[in-house]
Amino acid sequence: MKLFDTHIHSQFSPDGRMTMREAVRAAEKFGLGGVSFTDHFDVDAPGDNSHFSFDPVNQQNQIEKLQKETSLFIGKGIELGLQPNALSSAARAVSMFNFDVIIASIHFVDGIDPYHDKYYDLRQERVAYGRYLESIYECISGYKDFDILGHFDYITRYSPYLNKTLSMSEYGDFLDPILINLAQNGKALEINTNTYRKRGGSTPFLDIAVIKHFRQVGGEYMTLGSDAHDSERVGDGLKSAAATLLDAGFEHFTYFAGRKAVRVKIT
Ligand SMILES: [Zn+2]
Ligand SMILES: [Zn+2]
Repeated sequence: MKLFDTHIHSQFSPDGRMTMREAVRAAEKFGLGGVSFTDHFDVDAPGDNSHFSFDPVNQQNQIEKLQKETSLFIGKGIELGLQPNALSSAARAVSMFNFDVIIASIHFVDGIDPYHDKYYDLRQERVAYGRYLESIYECISGYKDFDILGHFDYITRYSPYLNKTLSMSEYGDFLDPILINLAQNGKALEINTNTYRKRGGSTPFLDIAVIKHFRQVGGEYMTLGSDAHDSERVGDGLKSAAATLLDAGFEHFTYFAGRKAVRVKIT
């Protein structure tokens, strides 16, 4: 079995630190079956984040060139940043292009990026994490044109709290409606391995109960993404993420081609 990295960023993302060709070479070296370039596209991003978008025509032309050079599957993707008050502009933006895969990600909560300390001012952990999860639910309730929910636990990467895990036992009341919504709409949940790395002295980890619960409520599709922004991280952590899927009762991981789910048996 070859793994597929369904979430990587190229030079078309403002924070991308690899060219598409470097990413493809890294994926070949790693032995992956394919990658999807999901560059940042945040609609109506607040503050100084308006540069978090790209021209899909240029990005897709470049992908088509690379597709001729490799036997790897290379997906035309987008990481669409959603906010509850900008869902119709997000829909308009993506409707103009054809993608293999659309990842819906929530990068801002009430106009603030939880990457910045300001978000945590005067908030207790449960309020800060809970509001992030509520925002995810608001977005996926009002917007359906996507395939994967990206990094549901993004906020734990940057939070100042000791607890950096959104566990089912502590956050199940927020997670349950999200997982049910995804399952009922045939959407995929992502294990984003970029989250489970040491930052600021502690390392978030994934609670397998979240993946198990997604399966229990009827979730069928799980994707694996490194969220790599440089060539060293392409494919990073995907092997152990696939093992986690098996432990949670999933026999397949998924990638998307032409917006259709393709399941690959984990062996
Ligand atoms: Zn993201
Ligand atoms: Zn990303």
